[in-house]
Amino acid sequence: MTDDRVAALKKIADEIAACTRCPLYNGTTHPVPGAGDPFAEIIFIGEGPGYYEDQQGLPFVGRSGDYLTYLLKLIDLEREQVFITNVVKHRPPNNRDPQPDEIIACKGYLDDQIALIQPAVIATLGRFSMARYFPDGKISQIHGQPKYASEPVIAYYPLFHPAAVLRNPNLRRTMEEDIHRLPEIVAEVKKRRSGSNPGSSGKPASSKDDDLPMQQLKLF
Ligand code: SF4
Repeated sequence: MTDDRVAALKKIADEIAACTRCPLYNGTTHPVPGAGDPFAEIIFIGEGPGYYEDQQGLPFVGRSGDYLTYLLKLIDLEREQVFITNVVKHRPPNNRDPQPDEIIACKGYLDDQIALIQPAVIATLGRFSMARYFPDGKISQIHGQPKYASEPVIAYYPLFHPAAVLRNPNLRRTMEEDIHRLPEIVAEVKKRRSGSNPGSSGKPASSKDDDLPMQQLKLF
């Protein structure tokens, strides 16, 4: 099973490397399929690769990546213990925003990665990945508020993008408070998956606890 999952993720990465479904592959140096633990409890999803990510073929390796690494250390995690990826796997030119048709073209790869890894928590970084699960959400209003789905049991957790926090240091304290809540959200998902007393005591104090079925969340 371990080898199966690793091989399946490698196959997705190979497909991404050969992908021409949208124009973004044009002019890039490397595809950036994502990296981390195939059995991670948390997947972080950002927007798209930037300059340094394109150069190295790895997600979040520039200043934003350094800050994400710092944030993970706050909760005693190394990058290798989570899985980090983006909604588009090739760098948009000049670091522009990914376009809706590009995100849709790339969606299947991210869906497949999530289905294989089966994380407890999907933590979105910024508005483009947030829109997959909170299509009407405003990041300034919903950051740090987990939303639980029941089939399968999973939590969606919207966070600011690390680059936005670096641009606006006033967000730093909020971002770090949001990160500190991740372990309790993972624990809550595990408890729900084990079927122990779902929906009553032990929830994170400010959980929205919407218990949305997965079908409602696959809006993108
Ligand atoms: S961004 Fe995604 S859909 Fe577009 S070429 Fe790259 S892998 Fe394919």
